[in-house]
Amino acid sequence: MCSIEDLKIDIKSLVEGESTVAVSLGDDYFVSLESEEIMRGDVHVDVFIRKTIHFSDISFHATGIVQIPCDRCLDPMDHPVDVSHRLTVKLGNERSEDDDLIVVTDDDPVVDLAWVVYETIVLNLPVKHVHAPGKCNPAMINVLSEHSATRSDDETETKTVDPRWSALAKLQQADQDNTEIDNKN
Ligand SMILES: [Zn+2]
Repeated sequence: MCSIEDLKIDIKSLVEGESTVAVSLGDDYFVSLESEEIMRGDVHVDVFIRKTIHFSDISFHATGIVQIPCDRCLDPMDHPVDVSHRLTVKLGNERSEDDDLIVVTDDDPVVDLAWVVYETIVLNLPVKHVHAPGKCNPAMINVLSEHSATRSDDETETKTVDPRWSALAKLQQADQDNTEIDNKN
């Protein structure tokens, strides 16, 4: 079984020709990142590397499951992972990363693929992710609905008389509600 250290690819010491690496990223890895997007996971990564004199061509395929927070109740929900990515790595004078081209130097020739895999998974997460209807944490849903009920009471007390302004206030309130939901993510 390979360790996560095997995903740190040292371009300089890599032999010319083709090589493969297979690594599993588990809860330890995802928890250690302290990421907001992915809480836990079990992802298998297959890496294929082809090195020539001029550059290294690296592609990987990652499959498995990650746990991401539900947009509505924030409880973890399983999300399937099935992503592929390809990048080119060259040796150069200055380290740089530009989309799929990474330039490494003699002094710092290591590409941390674990991080690239993580970023690829995050980029492929759906923008909105919520539990199936009825599967959200009921306690959290209660808190959320009580919170919005309290706010409607406040609104009634401070309601402006002019109907044009109250219509505008409603629009602004709806806007604020949306922002608050977004902020909770
Ligand atoms: Zn939920």
